[in-house]
Amino acid sequence: MTQDSQHETYPEIREAVQKLCARFPGEYWRALDREMAYPTAFVDALTEAGYLSVLIPEEYGGSGLPLSAAAAVLEEVQRAGCNGGACHAQMYTMGTVLRHGSEAQKRRYLPGIAEGSLRLQAFGVTEPTSGTDTAALKTTARRDGEHYVVNGQKIWTSRAEHSDLMLLLARTTPPREGAKRTEGLSVLLVDMREALGRGLTIRPIRTMMNHATTEVFFDDLRVPAENLIGEEGKGFRYILSGMNAERLLIAAECVGDAKWFIAKAGAYARERRVFGRPIGQNQGIQFPIAKAYANMRAAELMVREGLRLYESGANPGPEANMAKMLAADASFEAANACIQTHGGFGFAEEYDVERKFRETRLYQVAPISTNLILSYLAEHVLGLPRSY
Ligand SMILES: Cc1cc2nc3c(=O)[nH]c(=O)nc-3n(C[C@H](O)[C@H](O)[C@H](O)COP(=O)(O)OP(=O)(O)OC[C@H]3O[C@@H](n4cnc5c(N)ncnc54)[C@H](O)[C@@H]3O)c2cc1C
Repeated sequence: MTQDSQHETYPEIREAVQKLCARFPGEYWRALDREMAYPTAFVDALTEAGYLSVLIPEEYGGSGLPLSAAAAVLEEVQRAGCNGGACHAQMYTMGTVLRHGSEAQKRRYLPGIAEGSLRLQAFGVTEPTSGTDTAALKTTARRDGEHYVVNGQKIWTSRAEHSDLMLLLARTTPPREGAKRTEGLSVLLVDMREALGRGLTIRPIRTMMNHATTEVFFDDLRVPAENLIGEEGKGFRYILSGMNAERLLIAAECVGDAKWFIAKAGAYARERRVFGRPIGQNQGIQFPIAKAYANMRAAELMVREGLRLYESGANPGPEANMAKMLAADASFEAANACIQTHGGFGFAEEYDVERKFRETRLYQVAPISTNLILSYLAEHVLGLPRSY
């Protein structure tokens, strides 16, 4: 047992995920990356093994495990060089249905999601004009008899082409003077199988990494009113309530990425000989890797603290945000050290370093950018005036 593995939670899950991931080596991801293709076989394997439904309660067909089990799964996926970005959203978007959906909705959707016959991978919040300012979103859902009629546009709706359902945040009541801007937003569960071609259009966006992200257009799309989650007008609160879980899971992924980069850099530094000795003998090579390791461990502690508080029933906004920021920084620092250690080979596709480097860079921006985390801490933890 290594120093690292002694403190890790859920060793059996981790070992089983590592075995599964070994079936999807670098060649698999490289081929997909070239074509910008979705890792269907990998996502199917994770689904069949039950890993994407660890958070769904047993009564709805999942394994009913705590958030730290989901974090262990995603961390191992990244640590193995795979990419959980293809499917991680299912773990946290499902939570909105679980916490705020009616019993009928839970019975209708959760068992299918748990067994893999229904995919809830798409999360439509961000819009091109509103960006981080979610309350300024412009997509509307107007009640018309037994339906909502949806008009507007979302951007960066990842995995929309590989999902059956989308959790959509839209404005059901225009902003009222004097009321909070976050009021009047509602969450709808859109069945994209019925909606495509009937008011829903999806357009892929090519990005610097293979992420299956899209923009989505709504043109008089009719969504049954029974697909409203919770109460009309309270959607912002529902989305917000899932964000700490989302941040902690993304942070766990970043810790996994950092571990992959550190292991990869260490292995290369031991093996590559220049000037008649391993490059890892030079402190100029050792120190950046050692520093990245220390920062990864510190971030990992914050992730664990966030998970501990979350599982004790608290709503750990500061810890979830700090964990996400520190882990994203640690993964990118490790990525940078890894590429530098590899010299020119860091840029060659066959080493997978440049691919992982591109993939982990995302987490400085999404699902929440570093600046917004710092603003949150400044305002809500340190009591400084709101800056925006
Ligand atoms: C690959 C990818 C996948 C994504 N997947 C999804 C998804 O599935 N669903 C979804 O809803 N969204 C998704 N997103 C959107 C993502 O959450 C946003 O990109 C992110 O929240 C930032 O919003 P924005 O891009 O509109 O940036 P903007 O809000 O335009 O911000 C641009 C820059 O300005 C900074 N900034 C803005 N306001 C302030 C301020 N007040 N103080 C200091 N700095 C500020 C930001 O930090 C950022 O660096 C995804 C994005 C990407 C790139």
